[in-house]
Amino acid sequence: MTEPVRSKTEWSERGGLVVPDAGGESHEIDGNPTVEAVQDFLDREIPPVKGSGDFGIGSMVWPGIGKLLEEMGEVAQMASKLVSTDGQDAYWDGTNLREELCGEIGDLLAAIAFLSNENHLDTALIQARMDRKLTLFEKWHKGKQT
Ligand SMILES: [Mg+2]
Repeated sequence: MTEPVRSKTEWSERGGLVVPDAGGESHEIDGNPTVEAVQDFLDREIPPVKGSGDFGIGSMVWPGIGKLLEEMGEVAQMASKLVSTDGQDAYWDGTNLREELCGEIGDLLAAIAFLSNENHLDTALIQARMDRKLTLFEKWHKGKQT
């Protein structure tokens, strides 16, 4: 369980009470609050600020799909860099694009496996589709080579 965040409160130059909200924005309370009211305010628990986490690893809604998108983007980045070097492994900054692509494909395969496992996807259906596509791609490739 996450510990609640305590607010940091200070007095403004005008004598008001400046308090942060759960989002980290400061608010000034004007007037002359009672000591008890100020103490109650200081003692309040503020829940940690965090995104909903939906679609991320650990979320309740499609866990891992956010990671899948991230890794797809990283594979696409490596592929686009290979295109920009006319297929040469060495990128302008010295990065070995072949090695980086291998690493990002590994990350993507892990994201796919995690997504499939955690969301109970039909892996037999995925495998059958993959087999059909691979056969088709190989057929296309052979057709272009003749
Ligand atoms: Mg990655």
